[in-house]
Amino acid sequence: MSVITRFAPSPTGFLHIGGARTAIFNFLFAKKHKGKYLVRIEDTDLKRSTDEAIQAIHDGLEWLNIVPDEKIIYQSQEVKSHVKIAVELLEKGFAYKCYLNSDELKQLRFKSRENGSPIKSPWRDKLNKNNDDSFVIRLKMPSKGKTTIRDLVQGEVSVNNEILDDMIILRSDRSPTYMLSSVVDDYNMGITHIIRGDDHLNNAFRQVQIIKFLNWKEPSYAHVPLIHGSDGLKLSKRHGATNIFDYHKMGYTTEAMFLYLMQLGWTANNENDFDLDKIIKEFSLEKVNKSPARFDIKKLNSINSKNLRQKDLDEVLELIMKHFSLKLENIQKYRLKSLLPELLKRTNTYIEIKDDIEWITIDDFICNNKDNLLILKDKNTTLKEIGFLLNECIWSKDSIDSCLKKYIIDKSLKFKDIGPILRIALTGKTSSPDLVTVIYELGCTISLNRLNYKY
Ligand code: GLU
Repeated sequence: MSVITRFAPSPTGFLHIGGARTAIFNFLFAKKHKGKYLVRIEDTDLKRSTDEAIQAIHDGLEWLNIVPDEKIIYQSQEVKSHVKIAVELLEKGFAYKCYLNSDELKQLRFKSRENGSPIKSPWRDKLNKNNDDSFVIRLKMPSKGKTTIRDLVQGEVSVNNEILDDMIILRSDRSPTYMLSSVVDDYNMGITHIIRGDDHLNNAFRQVQIIKFLNWKEPSYAHVPLIHGSDGLKLSKRHGATNIFDYHKMGYTTEAMFLYLMQLGWTANNENDFDLDKIIKEFSLEKVNKSPARFDIKKLNSINSKNLRQKDLDEVLELIMKHFSLKLENIQKYRLKSLLPELLKRTNTYIEIKDDIEWITIDDFICNNKDNLLILKDKNTTLKEIGFLLNECIWSKDSIDSCLKKYIIDKSLKFKDIGPILRIALTGKTSSPDLVTVIYELGCTISLNRLNYKY
């Protein structure tokens, strides 16, 4: 039997970090078993489902490079098949029409809360004696025995059936509920493994009853613990961005985000190595911890900065140009690319180089910070003298370095007497990548223009 997994988000908001991790697990598991990974958008709640949310799911999955192996299924288009199953369950006596009005239901709920018993409608055992159209269809849950799930993450988990309430599968407006639709879709899509958040474990005990009644083959379940923030509480906006696509906007790479998310709950042999074939081989649901993973931005930053430094420079350049909508001539692109290794040594994300773009790409850039300008005015002569020496030297990093050293020795100065002012003149800032590299990559003409400028 070939493995088929699915990621089944409800499009009621953006794609959450937790959802993205679930998608990655489904993707990895399917690939490991040479199966298929599918996506089903559970958009039956028409009031809460939005086109923006659907788009956000597409964007998030595309960014993470985990697009499904087949066309995305929309649950709202499958409603007929859900209703058909509700009717079949009714006809076979596994479900019943319940005519409770809202007051009666309130009372029943109150009673059930008071004595801790599940909701069992009095209509469960009545033969249908009502011609009224205002009914819902409830599943006739078993009230004796146990239901056991052998979960690939949680192990064997059981509930006493007496706690299961007769859940509604078809509402009075004839719309199916999530509890029914999801099971029917999984069956029709041939899903063999259901990998999802452990907030759905309780649903599994209920949903599996439908499967048993219809004699369908039970899928395997893997309920993955939810993600918590660093304080141990359920991950929420309080802990930072929870929308996966925000991380794209913040300058994280696809590979780093994938690496980080997939390791929320287990650890790969080499946590920084984005070698998908190796990852797929190594991934296993049994390795996933039973306790919640904690989202740790420091860890993500560390993976991202390492990934940026391993990445092809042209790709990083492309990301930066796209992010800042830069239109650069080849020579400027070349300069930016040459300085990237130095810049990336000091950043977690590629958008942190924002303040460096101007001095690198604008040929006639001149420092425009008032305080820094005053410093340069005061040191005009030093800058010109260094400029004069640089003009004489062969353009290599070694000779630029010797030239600066010679100047310091000749003038009985220390590097700190010239380093900061050179940085300010060349980059407009007091901190910059290695000075010799900056001078070398800016080139003789640009460097001299900035040093000889009348501040
Ligand atoms: N649509 C559900 C959710 O977004 C997931 C259902 C499932 O995976 O079975 O929470």
